[in-house]
Amino acid sequence: MADTLPAAGAAEELLAEIRALPKVELHQHVDGSIPAEVTWQLMRQHDLHPAATLEEMRTHLEIQPHEEGTLLAYLDKMHYPLWLTQFYENIVKVTEAIVESAWGAGVRTLELRYSPLIHTYAGLTPRQSIRAVLSGMNHVSRRHPEMKLGLIVISMRQHGPHIAKILARQSIAEAQHLHSRTGVVGFDIAGPERGNPPRLFKSAYEIARLGQLGLTAHAGEDAPVEYVWEAIDVLGVQRVGHGCAAVQDGELLRRLARDRILVECCLSSNEHTGAVRAGQRHPVHTFLEAGVPVAICCDNSTVSRTDQNHETLKAARALGLQVARQVHEQAAGWSFIRPETALQDESLD
Ligand SMILES: [Zn+2]
Repeated sequence: MADTLPAAGAAEELLAEIRALPKVELHQHVDGSIPAEVTWQLMRQHDLHPAATLEEMRTHLEIQPHEEGTLLAYLDKMHYPLWLTQFYENIVKVTEAIVESAWGAGVRTLELRYSPLIHTYAGLTPRQSIRAVLSGMNHVSRRHPEMKLGLIVISMRQHGPHIAKILARQSIAEAQHLHSRTGVVGFDIAGPERGNPPRLFKSAYEIARLGQLGLTAHAGEDAPVEYVWEAIDVLGVQRVGHGCAAVQDGELLRRLARDRILVECCLSSNEHTGAVRAGQRHPVHTFLEAGVPVAICCDNSTVSRTDQNHETLKAARALGLQVARQVHEQAAGWSFIRPETALQDESLD
């Protein structure tokens, strides 16, 4: 019986149960999830030496306790991976490593997200940049055909609405329903929130919607509640990334619940970026109390020194294992991945 075990044993038992659960990951970035060992190996292969040892490299890639609480320190952890992920073969390799690692943690539905344009400095086109990630996912898919995989393309807000429209069209060209392999399943905006309200990206979202992509947006992570309203009312998203600000607005909570709009909750990451103060009750509690669908997500597994099992453990400690299990079961219904829509005829791909 779990309740007769000492605390450490109980935690171990809980983690073992969580490891065995088939899990759903709907919000995980490529750049912040590359295993440190892979970055270290690629740095050496390219004769790049920003750190003398793997352990030192790790401190550049993972948020350190004294750096927790600010978004800028958090985002700075993507600095070194971007040296490497400008080259097709490196993007393939890091993607494979991320997907394999998620498979190892028991993730059976995985949506990775990625901003193609910040991987084009060495000359890749946006389309090639998207293809590189899909290629890595396809390699793993052959080894684990039962794993559901899809890519969400991110347009960075600071690149503006026009680039977002171009990216939406490029995403559609690689959409899952137009290929017989892993494809793009969704569209997202990320990057600096304040001053870049969602309404600016209305046309890009309309294009993505017409191309049958799922719609999500980072909103209310570092901006007021109006940004979440706009993501819903103007962009028509089916899911919201973070959405922390929404807990301050009862009417918005009722709207999210009524229209079954899922919030992608990232427990560790929100503490690390300062979206939720350490020790403060995480918004996931309020969402669940209000009947808002939620998913438990890693955001950036390397930066946040976590994986899907540890995020689920964190949730299960606060909410109970039964609730955490239900969250994963229900979140599967909000996945944008629909393998049944993929082309069956490979000769058309
Ligand atoms: Zn994110």
